[in-house]
Amino acid sequence: MRSHLLNGLTAEHYRRSVTEGVERVAAKLATTDRPFTGVTVDALAPVVDAIDLDRPLGDTAAVLDELEDVYLRDAVYFHHPRYLAHLNCPVVIPAVLAEAVLCAVNSSLDTWDQSAGGTLIERKLIDWTAARIGLGPAADGVFTSGGTQSNLQALLLAREEAKADSLARLRIFTSEAGHFSVRKSATLLGLGPDAVVALPVDRDQRMQTVALARELERCASEDLVPMAVVATAGTTDFGSIDPLPEIAALCAQYGVWMHVDAAYGCGLLASLKHRDRIEGIEHADSVTVDYHKSFFQPVSSSAVLVRDAATLRHATYHAEYLNPRRMVHERIPNQVDKSLQTTRRFDALKLWMTLRTMGADGIGQLFDEVCDLAREGWRLLAADPRYDVVVEPSLSTLVFRYIPADVTDPAEIDRANLYARKALFASGDAVVAGTKVAGRHYLKFTLLNPETRTADIAAVLDLIAGHAEQYLGESLDRAS
Ligand SMILES: *Cc1c(COP(=O)(O)O)cnc(C)c1O
Repeated sequence: MRSHLLNGLTAEHYRRSVTEGVERVAAKLATTDRPFTGVTVDALAPVVDAIDLDRPLGDTAAVLDELEDVYLRDAVYFHHPRYLAHLNCPVVIPAVLAEAVLCAVNSSLDTWDQSAGGTLIERKLIDWTAARIGLGPAADGVFTSGGTQSNLQALLLAREEAKADSLARLRIFTSEAGHFSVRKSATLLGLGPDAVVALPVDRDQRMQTVALARELERCASEDLVPMAVVATAGTTDFGSIDPLPEIAALCAQYGVWMHVDAAYGCGLLASLKHRDRIEGIEHADSVTVDYHKSFFQPVSSSAVLVRDAATLRHATYHAEYLNPRRMVHERIPNQVDKSLQTTRRFDALKLWMTLRTMGADGIGQLFDEVCDLAREGWRLLAADPRYDVVVEPSLSTLVFRYIPADVTDPAEIDRANLYARKALFASGDAVVAGTKVAGRHYLKFTLLNPETRTADIAAVLDLIAGHAEQYLGESLDRAS
């Protein structure tokens, strides 16, 4: 059994095993012709169920053979140009290499004595990101597991800074198109059920700052405490970017914590062409960035940044065995002092190796390409009488709905769109997402693959129309 432990004696076994696994994945990537096989839960569940976990196979090749059946064959592949669904990106090779390195060394970034250089690498990347945002000389931050955790931590800091005598009086303002993790965070932070106020959006799905101003004024008159404004730089559905400069001005006027959720829009920080779209982010008190969305990094890779390093003390707790208070005076950098997590992956290495191999411009160029692709897709949709498209993209998403010429019942159109999405998924030809706009069902492309061509978008639109028409045809048959 010791032959399975990674150490100096097993280095050769490690090399062979990992190479064998890499070979399988490489072969898979070279041959997948669809993003998905269309497998159903009912078909796949028995295959996984049948595995007896108490009877190991012992041998790498056998385990990889089995993995083909339980996972690799039917996985959803984000690298495929017709995977157009969620905020998942194809990943860059330097980051995949880094993943292999970081899990083999297995540093834990909670304390210096478990990571050494890893801590310094993470800190340098935090400084780099903060500088790209423009947060100023006192900025700091920490890597997190994702945007959800980053938002939670940012709001924890905001809550502590707000110093209200009753949590029930605290209010968080975000737009209707803001991320649901804001609500989840408010609950976890013990705020009241009315704590999160979802402000209306304009036609471009951006927060209406007139409404924000009104609400902040109302807080004052009703003895409520505005705890934070969460501006979204890249809403999950539309990629819309809230008017950051106006929001910053209001936050300054009312003395409110400004959090910018740039989980998606952070790719603009590296952009060569569209950096101006997140102008105003530099005013934030805290920022969420998901490198695993628009920096083409493998899950997880994310961070929360703050303008004032001192605010991170609200996440600081000391344990004698781990990070005793005296270490702060000895200037030993323990990242756990800034994090909600204790044991923590060295995810930062992925971004490090990416920047050292490709540079930020390399990432920015890829992100620019998908933003440009979205614009092309928007032109296609806007010119196509079969479709209604919601907003011109600020980033790389398109929200649209199939609208047959001869059907007027919106509920029937809803069903046709829902059916088309399901049928497409079952076919495996492409994967698209869906959402609701003003109560109606829409379809969504999230374009994060620079390999996707305008022709792919056109082809998938034809597939969707085909499925929707088939549904409506059958529905007509049922009626007659
Ligand atoms: C994806 C997303 C999140 C959540 O990030 P995770 O990494 O999935 O936890 C938060 N906010 C926005 C705007 C997002 O798009």
